[in-house]
Amino acid sequence: MGMLKNDQGILLVVSGPAGVGKGTLCRELMAQAGDLEYSVSVTTRAPRPKEQEGREYYFRSREEFERMIEGRELLEWAEFCGNYYGTPLFHVQKVLAEGRTILLEIDIQGAKQVKQVFPQGVFIFIAPPSFETLSERLHKRGTEPEEVIQKRLKTAEGELRQIQAYDYIVENDRIDLAVEKLRSIIIAEGCRVKNN
Ligand code: 5GP
Repeated sequence: MGMLKNDQGILLVVSGPAGVGKGTLCRELMAQAGDLEYSVSVTTRAPRPKEQEGREYYFRSREEFERMIEGRELLEWAEFCGNYYGTPLFHVQKVLAEGRTILLEIDIQGAKQVKQVFPQGVFIFIAPPSFETLSERLHKRGTEPEEVIQKRLKTAEGELRQIQAYDYIVENDRIDLAVEKLRSIIIAEGCRVKNN
């Protein structure tokens, strides 16, 4: 991914365990932050009620997704709970080349891959106030069967140990405060003189 240059826009990676509320935070952040582009991911999972093609995700078949992998169309991709998720490379390159900030909301495996190919990105870990809260949120959402929730919680335990690789950790205890922290990080990163 040598095509991704650092002298341009800011690549923001917001990651953390599933169910931690990072989707909500990113939606709110997008609503509040001016010149911020959202990277719409490709997934093979089925759309949830109210999700729209091209807004939350590009919904694709496994075959189509695998073709995108082979065609090197993805900046990163991961298999999560039996489905593929990936970040289209083209959009990221385009926004960065325009000197603008792009926001990726991706899982921890994906964030690791982005860090390898684009270490100058800004990596933010969204942490739950406690593990119990994570479980509660996944259950309350009620969109996944219990076995899927259990699988997700197990994944989350390992994820919590990987925080060291990140630049920032934002605890999602109160949405408004967490969003304010994210906005502050973006502002500060825009003022940065040097990258490490
Ligand atoms: P959900 O199915 O709940 O929308 O997302 C499940 C998980 O996949 C979340 O942790 C979300 O952040 C992650 N995810 C969404 N898009 C991508 C992507 O493009 N790449 C990776 N690696 N993870 C993603």
